[in-house]
Amino acid sequence: MNKNIKDMKIVICGGGMSGLGLARVLQLKGCKNVKVYERSTHKYSRLQGSSLDLHAKLGQKLIIAAGLQEQFAAFSRPDGECFSFCDKSGNINVRKPYLKIASKRPEIDRGDLRDILMDSLLPDTIEWDYHFKSLKQIENDQIELTFTNNDGTIVRDAVIADLVIGCDGVHSKVRKYVTLDQFKPEYMGITMIEGEITDAKNSCPEIYNLVNQGLMFVMEDGIVMLAQQKTDGNIVFSFAQKVEKDWINNQGFNLSVNSSSSDDDVKNYLKNKLIPSWSPIFHRLIDSSITPFKPRVLYRAPINQEWKSQSNITIIGDAAHSISPFAGLGCNIALYDSFELANILTKDIDCTTQKPLLEKIQIFEKSMLNRWRTAAKETMENENSVFLPNGIDALKKRIGGIYYYFNCILSVSKVVNYINYFTDLILLTK
Ligand SMILES: Cc1cc2nc3c(=O)[nH]c(=O)nc-3n(C[C@H](O)[C@H](O)[C@H](O)COP(=O)(O)OP(=O)(O)OC[C@H]3O[C@@H](n4cnc5c(N)ncnc54)[C@H](O)[C@@H]3O)c2cc1C
Repeated sequence: MNKNIKDMKIVICGGGMSGLGLARVLQLKGCKNVKVYERSTHKYSRLQGSSLDLHAKLGQKLIIAAGLQEQFAAFSRPDGECFSFCDKSGNINVRKPYLKIASKRPEIDRGDLRDILMDSLLPDTIEWDYHFKSLKQIENDQIELTFTNNDGTIVRDAVIADLVIGCDGVHSKVRKYVTLDQFKPEYMGITMIEGEITDAKNSCPEIYNLVNQGLMFVMEDGIVMLAQQKTDGNIVFSFAQKVEKDWINNQGFNLSVNSSSSDDDVKNYLKNKLIPSWSPIFHRLIDSSITPFKPRVLYRAPINQEWKSQSNITIIGDAAHSISPFAGLGCNIALYDSFELANILTKDIDCTTQKPLLEKIQIFEKSMLNRWRTAAKETMENENSVFLPNGIDALKKRIGGIYYYFNCILSVSKVVNYINYFTDLILLTK
């Protein structure tokens, strides 16, 4: 095909982090025909969960390539980097305080990041209420895609593309056209139940203090509890446990997005069956949760996956390589995929002859899978640690670093707080 990438019809299926990031950079590089097809009916139709830390060498690369550093700085929180390991009685075991001036991985609410990316796109880039169903190769090396609306009716106007990029998340429907249905993510044996409290400072002050603007972990009795601060003062929390895949249904919990019918059942389960011996501050947290609870049934891609690249279709982000959230890398590598793919596709945009698309996709997919394997290894180490008593201590040492060895935790935190106060005062930090 002789078309310049500039003029190609590029169809991105899925308007999550990777899809939006990719669309933005492609448009900045001069691609004129980029469309994102998203199954949600409108911008605010799905809850966006908690907060993400973007690493300088991964997620932040995309932010820079997208020219969105100012917006990112306005919405991100260096103080979100504080990390505390607590026990089930509510004592702090290890705390890694945040030094604002040295911030490398500021946190940003998932909803804010999505808004920043969405608002940066050219008008009418996103087509809402387009649920990808299937595709077929047609003449001229093009692809015809079929979508349905949310009510299940097929969108009548055919969508034709020169290049399709599947960014449709862990349960991707585009994936099978790339991997030829050979590799599917597997249930990793862990299910989380997620809740959220509003105005944490006043509604659950003890938990608020333990979280200390950042992230708190409790790992006891085979359960991993996480609580994380959001910009609006809410705290998102979750309980993860090793259970069978259908555990949520087997418990009789109806945790669909629009249902709060079983919230009391979930609260009772969490307090009386899951953590009956934990401090009452955790029970109060559960009682204060605003409804509905959300299930997170975790899947990961098989580590040996590999496929033969094609010339007009690829997948990125969770669609290509979902991993567990225990190293906080999923979104980071998804954004890096967007950054790298946009660069490889457009590197020779102004040259008269361009590298064939197949070659570009081969280079990209090889690099993407290598990056993911490294991230998956780190993630698995954390995941194996969090559910084993010996592993937990090793994890605390690894993440806590020098702070693991300090017993005078509170005085260290106080000193760091003074430094933060001072750098704020002289406007070096915000
Ligand atoms: C509990 C939890 C905590 C996490 N914490 C972190 C963290 O701290 N740091 C981190 O880096 N990562 C984290 N992750 C991982 C991160 O959320 C994902 O890796 C990231 O969102 C992947 O981005 P994506 O664009 O590939 O997919 P998604 O963000 O899932 O986006 C997919 C998009 O495609 C749309 N879509 C799906 N199917 C279709 C279809 N058929 N047609 C059209 N549109 C479709 C969806 O509506 C969605 O908008 C966490 C994940 C979980 C579950």
